[in-house]
Amino acid sequence: MPSVPPLKFASPLLDEETIADVAQVLRSGHITSGPWVDAFERELSRFCDGRPVRVLNSATAAVEVALQLAEIGPGDEVITCAQSFFTVLNMIVKVGATPVFVDCDLVTRNIDLAQVEARIGPRTRAIMPTHWPGSLVDMDALHELARRRGIRVIEDAALVIGSQWKGRNVGAFGDLVTFSFHPNKNITSIEGGALVVNDAAEARRIEALRFHGIERLPDGTRDVAFPGGKFNLPDVNARIGLAQLARLPEFLCRRRALVDRYFARFSTDPACVLPPPPPGANDGQSWNMFSVLLPIADLTLDRKAFRDALAAEGIMTGVSYEALHLSTLGRRFGYHRGDLPNTERISDSTVTLPLHAAMTDADVDRVCAACTDFIARHKR
Ligand SMILES: *Cc1c(COP(=O)(O)O)cnc(C)c1O
Repeated sequence: MPSVPPLKFASPLLDEETIADVAQVLRSGHITSGPWVDAFERELSRFCDGRPVRVLNSATAAVEVALQLAEIGPGDEVITCAQSFFTVLNMIVKVGATPVFVDCDLVTRNIDLAQVEARIGPRTRAIMPTHWPGSLVDMDALHELARRRGIRVIEDAALVIGSQWKGRNVGAFGDLVTFSFHPNKNITSIEGGALVVNDAAEARRIEALRFHGIERLPDGTRDVAFPGGKFNLPDVNARIGLAQLARLPEFLCRRRALVDRYFARFSTDPACVLPPPPPGANDGQSWNMFSVLLPIADLTLDRKAFRDALAAEGIMTGVSYEALHLSTLGRRFGYHRGDLPNTERISDSTVTLPLHAAMTDADVDRVCAACTDFIARHKR
């Protein structure tokens, strides 16, 4: 029987030209951080309206360095959203600070800013929201709140490079902003991330924090005053990232066409909760994922059975994300089931369906048909 290759839920799109570019870097003799890192950073900075950008070997490293840059550590609290990736919880805890979780909106999945305001206390040092595909955190309200209360903002923009707020790219304004170039994101450098900062002094500080804490002294020797990490991005990766950044508009356009098709074709009985529908053409939203909430209370089978049934048809799905406050690490900070109802409902019933720039319209149709069919057959 001819077998169709499985449809992955995320997949990078690398062209032959990029592969040839990488071969050139490999032959150049300079393969770790060098001129291609500089070039990638310059293009990212242009993308962020001239704000300084430094690349690192992951967004997780970028978040850790952002927290260090803001001098957040033991005794400090960071208010964040439990409907996000493990990076958020892990890095706050790793620098010695305390995560303070608040709930999110059920549909947009973005952090509830009213709850953020209510949880700001004398030890609060930063707000760390994760932007969700399809709808950004309200940037005006977020930055107004942070300014008014005198706290830093670290935007986890791992999923939304290319999204815009009132016509400006995410990263072009605000405080500290992190991007990811993991293969599942809008653009990739295999592994990689970036941190957007406010000024040249902060950019220099990242250069030390991402490379052993090293500072170069006028006499040609080096000194270390802070235990920095080893988070530099190699040139091989930067070359890929640079080529991908040039194709970002094309990738986003394709992703958007696929999402429009999902909205047109996705229909189940009982209904799933869908992401916020795009408000219109040129609405400035990027779509890294298409995640729905299954109507599990109305089904005789659970999410595992749903995912297994789709996998049996060659359709791979993901769970984005498990509630951070209910992880073993999160519970150490005193959280329990029932604390964050929307986050928990999403965590219990979400499924991320395939979405990436290499997909065809027929792929979307196949996924929609498989979902409709499973839900119809296992309706309570
Ligand atoms: C992917 C992701 C990260 C981590 O990115 P890495 O580059 O893999 O470290 C952080 N936050 C969110 C929301 C993500 O989706």
